Amino acid sequence: MTAFKNSNIKSFIIAFCFLTAISCNTSENKTASSKNDNPYQEKVDSIIGLMTLEEKLGQLNLPATGPITTGSSKSTDVVKKIEDGKIGGLFNLGDPKNIYEVQKIAVEKSRLGIPLIFGMDVIHGFKTTFPIPLGLSSSWDMEMIEKTAKIAASEASANGINWTFSPMVDISRDPRWGRVSEGNGEDPYLGSEIARAMVRGYQQDDLAAKNTLMSCVKHFALYGAPEAGRDYNTVDMSRIRMYNEYLPPYKAAVDEGVGSVMASFNEIDGIPATGNKWLLTDLLRDDWGFNGFVVSDYTGIYEMKAHGMGDEYAVTSLALKAGLDMDMAGDSPNIDAAYIKHLKGALEQGKIAMEDIDKAVARVLTAKYQLGLFDDPYRYCSEERSKNETYTQKNRDFARLVGAESTVLLKNEDQLLPLKKSGTVAVIGPLAKAGNNMPGTWSVSSDHNKAISVWDGLLQTVGESVNLLYAKGSNLDYDLELEKRATMFGKTIPRDGRTDQQLLDEALAVAKKSDVIVATIGESAEFSGESSSRTDIGIPQVQKDLLQALLKTGKPVVLVLFTGRPLTLVEESKTVPAILNVWFPGSEAGLSISDVLFGDVNPSGKLTATFPRNVGQVPLFYNHKNTGRPLGNKEGKFEKFKTNYLDIRNEPLYPFGYGLSYTSFDYSNFNLDKTSIAMDGEISVSVDVTNSGDYDGKEVVQLYIRDVVGSVTRPVKELKGFKKVNIKKGETKTVTFNISVEDLKFYNYDLDFVAEPGIFQVFVGTDSTTELMKEFELTE
Ligand code: BGC
Repeated sequence: MTAFKNSNIKSFIIAFCFLTAISCNTSENKTASSKNDNPYQEKVDSIIGLMTLEEKLGQLNLPATGPITTGSSKSTDVVKKIEDGKIGGLFNLGDPKNIYEVQKIAVEKSRLGIPLIFGMDVIHGFKTTFPIPLGLSSSWDMEMIEKTAKIAASEASANGINWTFSPMVDISRDPRWGRVSEGNGEDPYLGSEIARAMVRGYQQDDLAAKNTLMSCVKHFALYGAPEAGRDYNTVDMSRIRMYNEYLPPYKAAVDEGVGSVMASFNEIDGIPATGNKWLLTDLLRDDWGFNGFVVSDYTGIYEMKAHGMGDEYAVTSLALKAGLDMDMAGDSPNIDAAYIKHLKGALEQGKIAMEDIDKAVARVLTAKYQLGLFDDPYRYCSEERSKNETYTQKNRDFARLVGAESTVLLKNEDQLLPLKKSGTVAVIGPLAKAGNNMPGTWSVSSDHNKAISVWDGLLQTVGESVNLLYAKGSNLDYDLELEKRATMFGKTIPRDGRTDQQLLDEALAVAKKSDVIVATIGESAEFSGESSSRTDIGIPQVQKDLLQALLKTGKPVVLVLFTGRPLTLVEESKTVPAILNVWFPGSEAGLSISDVLFGDVNPSGKLTATFPRNVGQVPLFYNHKNTGRPLGNKEGKFEKFKTNYLDIRNEPLYPFGYGLSYTSFDYSNFNLDKTSIAMDGEISVSVDVTNSGDYDGKEVVQLYIRDVVGSVTRPVKELKGFKKVNIKKGETKTVTFNISVEDLKFYNYDLDFVAEPGIFQVFVGTDSTTELMKEFELTE
């Protein structure tokens, strides 16, 4: 083993095995959190038998030590506490040497030598950074997504980390909510597929392997549906909506064997998720069979005081009794409700039993066994792996590709794109040189200053053949205070001291010299993300003004749009000839963007969240119900006493599943192999897709169903399948899907998962507005 310093592991292990009189062989390690038998039970029980109450509470304590604190918590005396066995793990400690040293204290200096677990927000990559999750989801490429998680796991695990707080699978239909950027959009089916792919990627079916991480699915549950899109706000939702529309991705992660779950900040049915026994025990463990451990979100237990759930003893007991095992960031002087501080008192007051504590401790210890930490506590600290396996050229090349595959072409009038690799291109906008923003939000482990800006990417790729000009054009926002809030965490975009007019004049002078303008504008990275909700979800006004001024020059303008959420783009959609939505593509951003701009990669991303026309339409999503007064006309004209607005039509600007290509695809020969199936039957759907344009390209072929009549109302469309196919120009491919009765099931009024006989419509096409439809009947 190559560790950071000479280690005493062997003597530790011998001493530890002796102390606990148990075997340290963890060869039976498996991920499967949803299996009921715990192969480590005996070992875990014998350790618990040796523990003092303080040491038990220590295992449940996860203090904040990282470079970023998202709440108000900061721990003190960490070393002393580790020696005293009062800490079970640490998170966001980025440096592998530190991790090694800290682990050494735990295993050599604490009485029982129990190793620590090291967590981190490895959300979309470690050093090699992939697009923000909303962007990544737009690739609709499950293999690719799984591979990003696998690479993230291998890099993070080479640097001491063994547990990631990812994937975030919160369904969201509200682009005001800043964390829409961290999820996979609005659809439960696609969200579930991605949840599975991410868990597989991180855990690889072997948690003890040195290159895998334990995954933590979050934020359980419903965190993506806060009232008014304001982060941390109240959630109130019917059970039937929860089960059918919001819970599936969490369940998919559990079914895939995710090792841990993070409780969300919000309340559910009036009880915060952190202390909600129905959620954390009845549903998660009893119904879904989850067997791993549950961690709170950052100071989530303490926050139950503010929720109005009682004093420190009441809220800590509530959480423990609910089934919450580990307390994140409770251990700081200013946090006055924490497991480590108050469970002892709660026990004395009879609010909880020792058995409740033991259950939680057992789950945390089991996770440490699963990770192989009792075998070798330093297994994730390898100097050699850290050096050779992090931010490698191979990983970065892959990130470049993923960045390109995640872009969504929203508009391309007169085939303005791809650009020719010649002539003069003016690159204008405050995000052109903002390399540090390219990794996007929640990229704590990324080296922001190494990320490749659009400007640098273009120089590297086409700098020899294209005359590149640059002007900043504007600041990020007219409002300096808003700008500061949207450029936190080292992602500053220095404010230019010149006046708005001076910046604009310079940009127009540069624009005049060019053949085409590439306008690099939109949100900065921290315009979205945690606690970054917005009520106006347009491009910041100063940049809108810049864009309109550029358009007035008469030069062709390509809008390279940066965003962490669906934006309202009505004006831009009318006036700008080409719009390429690149989200935040990651560490290789400039290269990914250049590849698409100049046609080395043909864009194939499709939106996973609806882009509304204005914020008043929100929440707007494709899989809505019909209502009793649906709008009959297709043109979206106003109809009195129908469900529509006086001032705006119902349709989104860009629907779910939408995204253009440099080529075009035609659909024909749509067929179902049967017109009816019985409850044990299956129906085969086929359609021919022809690449009728001038470029090879990839198309995401989408399949939706509609359950026409139900015992409860059913959505107008539901995604039930998709395939991303590579089709050469002029080529036709037949794409097939199988629909089984499982795909037709839903949770009925009694929350039974059933398929009901009757007529089903099947739609195939290029996005969720497709009208290519056939029907079949499901019989008894
Ligand atoms: C976020 C989580 C994150 C945690 C730890 C919280 O504020 O809600 O998503 O994993 O901090 O950094």
